[in-house]
Amino acid sequence: MEIEEGKNSRITTIRINSIREEQSLCDGPGLRTVIFLQGCNMHCSGCHNKSSWDPAGGSEYKITELAEILRKKCPNKKLTISGGEPLLQAEAVEELCKELEDFNLCLYTGHELNEVPQSILKHLRYLKYGSFVESKHTSVLPYVGSSNQKFIILYGGKNNA
Ligand code: SF4
Repeated sequence: MEIEEGKNSRITTIRINSIREEQSLCDGPGLRTVIFLQGCNMHCSGCHNKSSWDPAGGSEYKITELAEILRKKCPNKKLTISGGEPLLQAEAVEELCKELEDFNLCLYTGHELNEVPQSILKHLRYLKYGSFVESKHTSVLPYVGSSNQKFIILYGGKNNA
């Protein structure tokens, strides 16, 4: 992890697992590009993305370079940030959101709503929150994996498309 030194020091790198090559209709409204961040300490039973668990796995990117890659891969500017557990890299997620201020951003987290920092919420158009519970798995409710999870509109960010 790299941190830019100075009066307002900030994280400059982020670890990612992958960027989905095909756009998705299941990870928030519209045709969305999905980025999976690296690292997850929730270890839910039935997890389909165990390769994202190791916080030292995946690949490290400079946040500015990753934002440029996402601009090329995501011409409609609808991006879902998933994992792994994105809030393990909360500061880096905030910096990525700032780089993509003109995007329609959605965050998928296993944490509860009150655990998501306001500094991230203000950039989001959508949020999926709550842990994945295998016994409550659903393929009927939109944009969630289990019925205990919630998907909400936040009206954050500058892109309301
Ligand atoms: S939060 Fe998501 S990535 Fe992490 S263990 Fe649960 S289902 Fe898997």
